[in-house]
Amino acid sequence: MGYASTRSLALTGLTAHIVDIEADAAPGDSELHLVGLPELSVWPARARIRAAILNSGTAWPDARITVSVTPMIPPVYDAAADLALAVALLAAAGAIPPERINGRVFLGELALDGQIRPIRGVLPMVAAAVRAGISRVVVPAECAREAAQVPGAVVMPVTQLTDVIDQLRHGAFRDQHAQEPDPAPSSSFAVDLADVPGNQAARRVLEVCAAGGHHLLLSGDGPATMLAERLPGILPPLTDEAAREVAEIYSLAGRLHRAPGITPPLSAPHHTATAAAIFGSVAGNRPGAVSLAHHGVLHLADAPEFARTVLDGLCRPMDSGQVHLAGHGRSIRYPARFTLVLDARPCPCLEQRECACTPEVRRRYRARLALLLSRVAVRAPVEQEDRAAGTGEPSATVAARVLAARVRAAHRLAETPWRTNAEIPAPDLTTRFSVAPEAAELLWSAVTAGLVTADGMPRLLRVAWTLADLRGADRPQLDDAAGALELWKGTDGDGAR
Ligand SMILES: [Zn+2]
Repeated sequence: MGYASTRSLALTGLTAHIVDIEADAAPGDSELHLVGLPELSVWPARARIRAAILNSGTAWPDARITVSVTPMIPPVYDAAADLALAVALLAAAGAIPPERINGRVFLGELALDGQIRPIRGVLPMVAAAVRAGISRVVVPAECAREAAQVPGAVVMPVTQLTDVIDQLRHGAFRDQHAQEPDPAPSSSFAVDLADVPGNQAARRVLEVCAAGGHHLLLSGDGPATMLAERLPGILPPLTDEAAREVAEIYSLAGRLHRAPGITPPLSAPHHTATAAAIFGSVAGNRPGAVSLAHHGVLHLADAPEFARTVLDGLCRPMDSGQVHLAGHGRSIRYPARFTLVLDARPCPCLEQRECACTPEVRRRYRARLALLLSRVAVRAPVEQEDRAAGTGEPSATVAARVLAARVRAAHRLAETPWRTNAEIPAPDLTTRFSVAPEAAELLWSAVTAGLVTADGMPRLLRVAWTLADLRGADRPQLDDAAGALELWKGTDGDGAR
């Protein structure tokens, strides 16, 4: 009888592990024994692989087949390894020359009829294979373009197990060399700030948030969504490293075709979204909306309508830049560093004109955001479109000022782990960086007067630095401190701090 070995990959979060698959065929019961994984997690795989082989017109080997999968990471069987298991067992049984499956990685889930189904996360998996020195990857045809984006990958797209068996038998595997990746989408965003009429105050806060990475609340019943959608277009383009991280997250979500290229992503979940849709799912290893916003913008339209668990749960990723999920015997972290844009109407009415809500109803409605608002530095009203107000500056003009401010901040923060003013921890704001004495005096007087709590002070200082960066000044002066106070209060006077 015989022995064969090959490789596949499995993902824990975004981290791909090489999985060694060994198969042994010995005289005996004609059964498939899978070792190295919990029995419950492998029985569906065993059934799929058997059906796929039989439906591919290949006889089931007349031998006792043992397949071992090592290491056991994650401790749940990943269907992406189906194809590797099938070719390994066929090679051990002599149906395929064993040497032809060596030195390759096989990825793909098998359907019962022998079709090879696309899988999620091909980009991080193929990247890990190439890093480990295995450049020849066999992937489902639907995932071939994605795999080919990894420099150095030699991609073999496959659609059916029959074809894989035939090609391996006759040595006819046609390796496709890495394609030129699709041309990166241009940085000019499909939507432009010039489309938004009026709303000068909201346009200004958008610019400040983009320049400093600050979180934002838009209040009122104006075009908040239009504004939020235009924030990614004025953020600096992603670095290569950031674009790669974003692409890997979208690949794992099965949405690489919607990855934004070098434009920072926008993730705008609906208020009915479940906690799993927002934060991700450990069972399915699927990142959620907060990770799809990594390096970009998370927009919660009608924010008070979201589930309380979602609203309060957002604080953790906002503070740590990642989501941590545990369960099903594993622990997963996804990156989730985003700029949050909340928008909220003043009350729960759908038809604001006929509103009869009491001040208490309005207060309770807004209070749902209390925890999140303790992390928001900037607020602005959004007003109904006023055609007479004319159009404002285009995104490109604003983006140029944002970029100049970011460069200034990056220069100041060069020796630190932070890249934007919003990331500077509270203690460092006072020990490492100093504002003009009059500016500090004004901000402290606001604390003394009870306008701002002492906890709110660091957020004011961060915004003051961003205003100074936008002016091209070395440090915040009195005007920047006053400006930060204005943006902190917003001008809607909703009173929820
Ligand atoms: Zn109302």
